[in-house]
Amino acid sequence: MSKPVNSKVTGLLYIDDIKIFAASKSKLERVMKMFESSMEDVGLQWNLKKCAVAHVKKGVQVTAVSGGRVVESTRIPCLDDGERYKFLGVLESVRQEDKLVLECAATEYLRRLSVIWTSPVSDYNRVIDREARKIVVESGGRHLCSSNALLYMAKSRGGRGLRSVEMECKATKMKGAVRLHGNEDRAPGMVREFEEPAARMGRRSNFKEAAKCTEELGQELDLEHAQGIKKEVRRCQIEKLEDEIRNQRWQGRLVTTRLEDESLSADGCFWWLTEWKNCPSHTIAGLVGLYEQLLPTRVYTIQKTHTSGEGEVRCRLCGKAPESVAHILSGCSALAQSKYLSRHDAALKVLFYELLYDEGFIDEIPPWYSPDKPKPVYESENVKTYLNVPIYADQQEVRCNRVDARIVNHMCKRVMTLEMSCPWVNSRTRKDE
Ligand SMILES: [Zn+2]
Repeated sequence: MSKPVNSKVTGLLYIDDIKIFAASKSKLERVMKMFESSMEDVGLQWNLKKCAVAHVKKGVQVTAVSGGRVVESTRIPCLDDGERYKFLGVLESVRQEDKLVLECAATEYLRRLSVIWTSPVSDYNRVIDREARKIVVESGGRHLCSSNALLYMAKSRGGRGLRSVEMECKATKMKGAVRLHGNEDRAPGMVREFEEPAARMGRRSNFKEAAKCTEELGQELDLEHAQGIKKEVRRCQIEKLEDEIRNQRWQGRLVTTRLEDESLSADGCFWWLTEWKNCPSHTIAGLVGLYEQLLPTRVYTIQKTHTSGEGEVRCRLCGKAPESVAHILSGCSALAQSKYLSRHDAALKVLFYELLYDEGFIDEIPPWYSPDKPKPVYESENVKTYLNVPIYADQQEVRCNRVDARIVNHMCKRVMTLEMSCPWVNSRTRKDE
């Protein structure tokens, strides 16, 4: 046992699962005898098929060295090294196999779902998706008015990347029908013989249900030519989701704009959703909420939820323009010198650190979230860099005397100037000029 436990643990007992610890084989045999007799006292016996001994040496599970494969007095078999056992229904070796347990749970979850979804009451069980969404909302994982389609859309397309039980089950039905149709085996053959007439006679059949699912996707189920059905089903499902999002003029609008804008890279826009692995849920929920325009702005409460009647729509901070998500994020003069400026500096900093690194001024690039700030001036024999330092030009040709950053290389007589701006997506062409 680990050190912080002061008293010696010799056994873990929970209802009918017992784990006994012993320092040596002889001690184990002694304890087991005691155990056996006290179990007999209350009328219990152990089931040999469910017992095992694991040898652990210096924290590593090993194969029994001496004494063969069983503990003689009890005839309980030993585990091989690396072989796992279950305690309280959880797979363990020398520690709990969390990852494996998760995989098993996921498999079991999907197995049970396909049982539920292939039953005649499948529509009733649509409740599962609804309940799952409710839990996510209640735990702050998403906004109550968030789009369902976006929840099931891939992260690389701006969605949350969740799998819908309903969609998975329909896909399973379609794949199942194709497999049943094309299988040469005897057992599936019998099922087929039962299913095909059932479909013809208007009774419930897997083929009929699969055909219905395919129809919902706007396709026809062709059992003869069903190669690559898995991919095809997924493609149609994604297409349907994107359609749905496109039709959501409020929640879906900003995501759709990014997906359809040819000069924007959707991959680049939504890169953070797939690559920022330890991004906190509330950060994702908040940012997706912004994409879905669910910020409680005046425009939202007046035009979308109608919770504040026909009141004032202008910004509570600057009073100049309608208070919309776009305005709060990039158009509010009251935020320009504070929030926008720090956002600008934080974005520029990432790029500037890279350049400093290339020029050899720093040995490593601080991560984007670090509070570090670059110095205004770095200077070496040949190169000098300036950050937010005005240019005092001798000649009049220098048109703008304020650029965000400059890197002057005296050796190759080159000046690089950097100008960073974080415009709203629709205003970026104006900024380009
Ligand atoms: Zn404002």
